[in-house]
Amino acid sequence: MQNLICSKVDCKKVANFRCPTCLKLGISDGVHFCSQDCFRQSWDSHKLQHKQARSVENIKENNSHYTYSGLLRPFPYTPKRIVPDTIVKPDYATHPEGVSFSENRSKSSGVIEVLNKEEITKLKKACKLGREVLDVAAKAIKVGITTDEIDRLVHQACIERDCYPSPLNYYKYPKSCCTSVNEIICHGIPDERPLEDGDIVNVDITVYHDGFHGDLNETFFVGNVDEASKKLVKVTYECLSKAIELVKPGVKYRDIGNVIQKIANQNGVSVVKSFCGHGIHKVFHTLPNVPHYAKNKTTGVMQPGHSFTIEPMINQGTWRDIIWPDEWTAATQDGKRSAQFEHTLLVTETGCEILTIRNDPVFKSQPHFMDNL
Ligand SMILES: [Zn+2]
Ligand SMILES: [Zn+2]
Repeated sequence: MQNLICSKVDCKKVANFRCPTCLKLGISDGVHFCSQDCFRQSWDSHKLQHKQARSVENIKENNSHYTYSGLLRPFPYTPKRIVPDTIVKPDYATHPEGVSFSENRSKSSGVIEVLNKEEITKLKKACKLGREVLDVAAKAIKVGITTDEIDRLVHQACIERDCYPSPLNYYKYPKSCCTSVNEIICHGIPDERPLEDGDIVNVDITVYHDGFHGDLNETFFVGNVDEASKKLVKVTYECLSKAIELVKPGVKYRDIGNVIQKIANQNGVSVVKSFCGHGIHKVFHTLPNVPHYAKNKTTGVMQPGHSFTIEPMINQGTWRDIIWPDEWTAATQDGKRSAQFEHTLLVTETGCEILTIRNDPVFKSQPHFMDNL
């Protein structure tokens, strides 16, 4: 063991007592002094350490009394669901922190990958299966069902289709899909809260099949939804549709945000800035980065063989988000509602193909919320 040396500058004597305030505040690497004299002479600089320790305490205290921006609260949720060994998993599925090294490599390469024919075939298959899974969730949405139950159905539908539910364990995300209710912008964790009459809920599905991810989401009405929410959902879908119309070789990725922002502004709603569309293929999230707001500085020009998502999140009030203490759920800062739609797209020679498009015999490609309008 070593002797502790007095913390007063220039004093080299052996220290034998600790500052009582440090002990009270639990400062573990706290300061030691040889004498009351040295302690007193060091006071002016030493007391700053107490101040810092107190501010850390304040942050902890604030988190335990987190102020939710709207009416929604977290509910308990069930443990992580099991994926059978027969299903091929992405690299992060078994990593203790859910880190994806393949994704990090892809992002740091700095280039937007151009998929070959075989890769395109596989991506299309994953997207088609993802669409089937979202349609299963869509059928289940009604007043009284919990989002945890929707997650169970989604998980089962993935397994039945030989798919891994991509969100599961991605940076430790605990569930197989995201369910974002009312003021939740995205990344809501499915839990035991039953859906209520008048809610809007977004279900975001990504599946991993044969080495490729397919990603899509839709916002749904639960029972009787007020007119303002209906308008928000309609405008959000229009934002996605109009943005997709822009996609073809030679167009800059940064131009997508201008189209979306224009429609949002015309309708008195706002565009979320913290979350963006993304490249997707062998990894879940990669280049290009696709912001949905105007005058963004994202790089890249569309080329045949690029695959990426557009997924605008549109808010009734402020565009600003706030993250819940669960470190995932993103809510609007003013508690007003948010809606979202997402497709995975492939740039073709002449435009683009919507790989996650709905293919219903009656309702064709229209999103589910329009079925009962
Ligand atoms: Zn998604
Ligand atoms: Zn996405």
